[in-house]
Amino acid sequence: MSRNRIDIHCHLFSKHTLSRKILSLLIKQLTQVSLRKIDIKKSGAKNFYQNIDVFEAEFDKIAKINNFLKIANSSNSELIYKKLQKVEKNYIIAPLTLDLDFCFYKELSSEQKKKNDEKLLTEFKSLKLTLDTNIKNVTLDLKKLFTLHIRHKNISIEENTTSKIKKFKTTKREFDKLTDKLGEEKLSFIENDYKYDASFHSQIEQIKQLKQNDKYSDKVFPFLSVDPRRKNILQFVKQNVGKNKIFYGVKIYTPTGYSPTDPVLFGTENDNDCVYKFCEENGIPITAHCSDAGFATFANKLNITGVIYRYKEIIRVDDFQLYFKYSVVKDGLKAVQERGEILNHPLLWEQVLQKFPNLYLNLAHFGGKNDEWRQHIIDLMSKYKNLYADLSGLYSKDLLIKIRNNFYKKLPDNIKNKIMYGSDYYIVTIFESDFEKYLNNFEKVFSNADFDKLTIDNPSKFLFER
Ligand SMILES: [Zn+2]
Repeated sequence: MSRNRIDIHCHLFSKHTLSRKILSLLIKQLTQVSLRKIDIKKSGAKNFYQNIDVFEAEFDKIAKINNFLKIANSSNSELIYKKLQKVEKNYIIAPLTLDLDFCFYKELSSEQKKKNDEKLLTEFKSLKLTLDTNIKNVTLDLKKLFTLHIRHKNISIEENTTSKIKKFKTTKREFDKLTDKLGEEKLSFIENDYKYDASFHSQIEQIKQLKQNDKYSDKVFPFLSVDPRRKNILQFVKQNVGKNKIFYGVKIYTPTGYSPTDPVLFGTENDNDCVYKFCEENGIPITAHCSDAGFATFANKLNITGVIYRYKEIIRVDDFQLYFKYSVVKDGLKAVQERGEILNHPLLWEQVLQKFPNLYLNLAHFGGKNDEWRQHIIDLMSKYKNLYADLSGLYSKDLLIKIRNNFYKKLPDNIKNKIMYGSDYYIVTIFESDFEKYLNNFEKVFSNADFDKLTIDNPSKFLFER
């Protein structure tokens, strides 16, 4: 196989795959972004530079939303792929699909769906208004602050400030263009009568188009999102995942509401026909989300069959009614953490590996911010030869340095050789809008030789060598 660099973990879903209900949730989240107001009179010119910093941080939030929506609003996956390739030039990529249709346990009537569409339109308008007002306020405050400062101090910083105001204005113009466009397309979005649950099938359609395009077929190795609750998914995997098929691997995301040992994935005592067995037998790689952050089911109650992690213990349950303490809508991250811990703890994956020890499995995000999870993953990696981990979504340079110093550097070669670079593009732009900076962090934190391992040797083994 070629010696191109590989990004083992990225996402290319376009606006059509976001589906109306997911779009609605996303907008709700974005509207909650609150910008800090500064009392100009109180803080005054004395803290001029400090204030400038605060303004910049506030503006950065807007720029991030702006940037994220700009990418997410692309009309197909190829356009997003091209954006990614501007930074990751000539990289081979493994785009992961995401089946989110089961994150909402209630089936809605057409009447309720119509109501939701109307709500979505209102939410769009309110998002635009909120951000619009915030940008105006921040620009205005900055000007006031600047005037106040001129009265007190020298003029030498004038140029600096003017250029900042200019930058803010450009962001605002860009944002206006984007939101106007979103507004228009939003209307047609409803009028064209998109399916309410368009997410999964349209992702597959778009990935198919990309993979079947001769320009990209040897550069794009898609992973199929497998949710055991989807009807006939095992059959679908057998038909569509494999060396010369549209999908090259399988993506598992258990916090959306199932156990890593759900019978469809893991088999039962009497029936071993399951996703993991098919993957193990055919050398098909699996990437499984493995951090206690990210995304999780919105349901507060689930029916679970398989192992779960509760009260620091692995428990086997059968058609068990699982109630969560926290709500994703009300409690946010705390609820995501709760669902992650119960459904996705690294020790649950040990159960999978005990039964399928030769499975090519990548525990994505290497535990994220959670050092305890990271250590569990490392321990498992030493036991299971085909267990890998990727560093996707680690946008903080400080965290990356910590992982390098406290973990990576101390690892024996056999484990070091199974750690891979991943971007988590474009989800990661919610946190780091400058994607070039994301990649630069990795190039700076790791030596050239290590970066080659992370992007070439290790992911090549995970994907191709068998
Ligand atoms: Zn991801």
